[in-house]
Amino acid sequence: MADKRDYYDVLGVSKTASEAEIKSAFRKKAKEFHPDLNKDNPDAAEKFKEAQEAYSVLSDESKRKMYDQYGHAGVGGSGANGFGGFGGFESADFDFTDIFDSIFGGGAGGFSSSFNFGGGSSSGRTRATRGSDVLMRMDVNFEESVYGTEKKFNLDVVEDCEECNGKGGFDEEKCSTCHGSGTITSEQHTILGSFLSKSTCPDCKGLGITYKTKCSHCKGKGKIKKNKTITINVPAGINTGDRLRVTGKGNPGANGGPNGDLYLEFVVDEHDYFIRDNDDIYLEVPLTITEGILGCKKEIPTLYGNVKLNISAGTNSGDKQRIRGKGVDNHYRKRKGDMYVVFKVYTPKKLSREQKSLIDKLSKTDLDTPETSKFNKFTKENDK
Ligand SMILES: [Zn+2]
Ligand SMILES: [Zn+2]
Repeated sequence: MADKRDYYDVLGVSKTASEAEIKSAFRKKAKEFHPDLNKDNPDAAEKFKEAQEAYSVLSDESKRKMYDQYGHAGVGGSGANGFGGFGGFESADFDFTDIFDSIFGGGAGGFSSSFNFGGGSSSGRTRATRGSDVLMRMDVNFEESVYGTEKKFNLDVVEDCEECNGKGGFDEEKCSTCHGSGTITSEQHTILGSFLSKSTCPDCKGLGITYKTKCSHCKGKGKIKKNKTITINVPAGINTGDRLRVTGKGNPGANGGPNGDLYLEFVVDEHDYFIRDNDDIYLEVPLTITEGILGCKKEIPTLYGNVKLNISAGTNSGDKQRIRGKGVDNHYRKRKGDMYVVFKVYTPKKLSREQKSLIDKLSKTDLDTPETSKFNKFTKENDK
């Protein structure tokens, strides 16, 4: 599974880009990668498709909002790539590792650690680098996962210092070490001769400017760590392994690059009675022997209130009945599950004298079913 690139990165625009900026960025990409104009570039078609997809989301106000809040999962439905295709009950473990590997580049290890997105490798110290993303595990109980909830938690977030606007100092001036060029040239003498070598200016880190006064608030770093209370709306239907993206709350970027994102991955508690399988809900309903034999009307708990169910005569342990639409109403994946009632007939271990005599009477009648007759026949033949 290939990881899906950030739509903003695909179009090369900032997260705050206007509609017009997005449109013009897409036009540029479309021209650059249109398959008809790029017959000799084998990647062009793929890139064109990618740009088209990014544009279709970012140009639509409501889709863009969803994307900003939930990432690819918010707009992709259950697409084949990215977070969208994630979340099967049985396959959760497999997909989990898979997605980890593809998005965070291996290391499906512990939660709450940070992973590098790649971004700006080691080339050039002055390049603005996006901060790495952070993955955090979030526990929710069964009810919260089904009905949705608001969660608050505290998080250390590194943000631009508000005193110096992230610059680290006041009274900008041209760096005296590199005279504003950001690089210093030094002569190196080797046996092959002298070379001029260029390197990033250590005083201004390549920016070409320094500040007369260091900001005391951030000690010149331009960044301040703050413990913030983050509030997120967990949509109804979230399941173990599902993720939400909180934009800009990941690790800080370098050299003016934006913060990474924070991903919350959910772990849902089990319920005592309701068992969830994707969006379907299974519920074991215990029956007495007479309820099973004669059938009955029974009130059944569902996630959305109790319902009256007609249970037919001759119901056995393991028989199932579907209640349509009473599974999880999943707002995160925009689908609705069903509920399955699974019956289990419980034979009493203790009977009163009266009950015993009634059952004795009953046992003198022919209670054979096709299954018991067939099995009895087999038993006899087996002994010949
Ligand atoms: Zn300098
Ligand atoms: Zn400052």
